[in-house]
Amino acid sequence: MNEIKLFCPASVANVSCGFDVLGFCLEPIGDEMIIRKTSKKGIHIIKIEGQKLPLETQKNVAGVAGLALLEDYPCDHGFEIEIYKGIKAGSGIGSSAASSAGAVFGINELMGKPLNRNELIKYAMKGEELASGSAHADNVSPVLKGGFTVVRCSKTPDVISLPSPSELHATIIHPKIELRTSDARAVLKKKINLEKAVEQWGNLAALVSGLCTNDYDLIGRSLVDVVIEPHRSALIPGFKELKKAAIDSGALGCGISGSGPSVFALSRGRETALRVQEEMNNTFKKFNIEYELHLSKINSKGIQIISSK
Ligand code: ADP
Repeated sequence: MNEIKLFCPASVANVSCGFDVLGFCLEPIGDEMIIRKTSKKGIHIIKIEGQKLPLETQKNVAGVAGLALLEDYPCDHGFEIEIYKGIKAGSGIGSSAASSAGAVFGINELMGKPLNRNELIKYAMKGEELASGSAHADNVSPVLKGGFTVVRCSKTPDVISLPSPSELHATIIHPKIELRTSDARAVLKKKINLEKAVEQWGNLAALVSGLCTNDYDLIGRSLVDVVIEPHRSALIPGFKELKKAAIDSGALGCGISGSGPSVFALSRGRETALRVQEEMNNTFKKFNIEYELHLSKINSKGIQIISSK
């Protein structure tokens, strides 16, 4: 195989009580990437369409993640990369993760697949480190593995795949303003109150259990964030109103996607998710900010090969 074309999906991380540990993969939104072998060694990003992003290997998350993989798995040829962005950078739905994960996935396939999807995570995290200053795995894991994933310990992560109840649907609203991950991190408190911590980890454990047992009511009661959302939501115009609209129209829960500005709601069944989408739309159109709305099932596959030759 000399060339591979990929669909690299968007993802939601920081799922309410699962700050920095829980994420899930989306279906209809994503980038495409073409990666091909070249005689020139190293990684060369030769084209980016859809957005203005750096072509320099060391400044692009795809380049940095790919180089990290090549450092451990040296190769006697190089790779060139074309990126067709469908996910806006800084949107909070894993734009950098799609490129980081796509690069390592594609290169690994072209090298004859020495690593599995789990083993690729630590290399994709190098791209995340470039984008946000911290090598987090909560977006790249669901992009590589699909479904919901939980990351235990960020240094040498255990990444655990969780089941996704089949009726679960996500509604995503993406206000077209840029909120940099680094700025969204700056508003967070370094210390948290013990009572809040207890509430948060109780919710996270219950949410994981709800996902494993198809208990939609438990999922709904657990999709609560008492640690991060109270600080970050102030950076997102209309967050309070969007959340009220989503919950009032039947969503199980609603929270900030990644570090924002995107907001997600999870609902049981497509019909409810469509109603939630409509009400979020009615609410946000009053804010005079351009936005996009998406409805998605949980993408259980993660990155997909579109074609290869
Ligand atoms: P998101 O949550 O949407 O991934 P981040 O703020 O984490 O947003 O990452 C976006 C940052 O990463 C921007 O500063 C962007 O310039 C940088 N970046 C570098 N290469 C890429 C790439 N291939 N795709 C997306 N963002 C990239």
